[in-house]
Amino acid sequence: MTSNRRFHIAVMPGDGIGPDVIDAALTVLEAAVGGAGFTLDFEHLTAGAAAWRDTGTAMSQETFERAKAADAILLGAMGLPDVRYADGTEIAPQLDLRFRLGLYAGVRPVRALPGGVRPLADPRSADIDLVIVRESTEGLFASRGKGVVEDDRIARDTMVITRETCERLFDTSFRLARRRKVRGGRGKVTCVDKSNVFASMAFFRRIFDECAARHPDIEAAHHYVDAAALDLVRKPWAFDVMVTENMFGDILSDLTAALVGGMGMAPSADIGDGHGVFQPAHGSAPDIAGRGIANPLAAIQSAAMMLDWLAERHGVEACAEAGRRIDAAVATVLAAGHPRPVDLGGEDGTEAITRAVIDAL
Ligand code: ATP
Repeated sequence: MTSNRRFHIAVMPGDGIGPDVIDAALTVLEAAVGGAGFTLDFEHLTAGAAAWRDTGTAMSQETFERAKAADAILLGAMGLPDVRYADGTEIAPQLDLRFRLGLYAGVRPVRALPGGVRPLADPRSADIDLVIVRESTEGLFASRGKGVVEDDRIARDTMVITRETCERLFDTSFRLARRRKVRGGRGKVTCVDKSNVFASMAFFRRIFDECAARHPDIEAAHHYVDAAALDLVRKPWAFDVMVTENMFGDILSDLTAALVGGMGMAPSADIGDGHGVFQPAHGSAPDIAGRGIANPLAAIQSAAMMLDWLAERHGVEACAEAGRRIDAAVATVLAAGHPRPVDLGGEDGTEAITRAVIDAL
């Protein structure tokens, strides 16, 4: 029985353009969910760089507990360039969320849509449809806050790869490839590493191969990260799911976002065994904050990913259906060419784009 299912969604708008794009995503969610047979209850929570500046706490323990208790977390963006800790690092409680909630899989899909921006001249770029799965709790980022500088002479950050996280990360990637295959995907997972140089990366690849053997229906491939960067520009349409270490994924997912129009078009999900945080891949974009011109489509597509994840997790098909309707509405708006977001070469602001998505629904 799926009717009347209520989901508690923790909403963290954050800093800069975060509140603008989250407002847009919530409006679209409300329009998509109305009468669909389930309900979303939104709870707004304050966290981020402005919160730290105003209250001395970037994310209070109470806020964290509220977010942890929710069925899913919808997040805008956090961090402001001029609000920093004494050591010069940015205030980024969203990174702490990844560690504290064990969100090991950063899922970052990139799909070329008719009417979207395609910087590559090759017509096959119309077929780009890939996902980067970025390990998000260890790798080189395990060193965050722990790196050392000795005598102003030498600095060290340490890469950490664990079997436990890798196994869950790779299994998530193969399951994702299988779910995409049902919808017409290639059914392929590529492990992106630097196993020809680093022991940690050879270990990463070995565990990948072990997991691949448990998923014989899905093709498994390998790529060194440098060659992957080359091929993501030369022939990105050849990839399906790509799974990689934290730092490599951080870099490659910005590259792949550029293949379809940049950060305003890049949704993401940080997923663990018990929790999911859904947020646009972009940051707080202080250069355009407060001007009403942020592209809300990445946040709106992140909200659609949230519905798909809730659907899979709780067996509520109406939820997946609402997510698909949102994705289809985004595609309709892009294909129409008007209104068009400023970062895609148009002249229309956040509100006009949001309204168009709702009309398309
Ligand atoms: P972070 O370090 O948090 O990832 P960042 O400073 O690297 O953040 P962003 O905040 O993502 O980067 O901004 C990068 C560029 O992309 C900026 O020029 C910004 O204006 C632009 N940008 C990001 N998001 C959007 C959006 N939703 N709409 C339009 N432009 C955007």
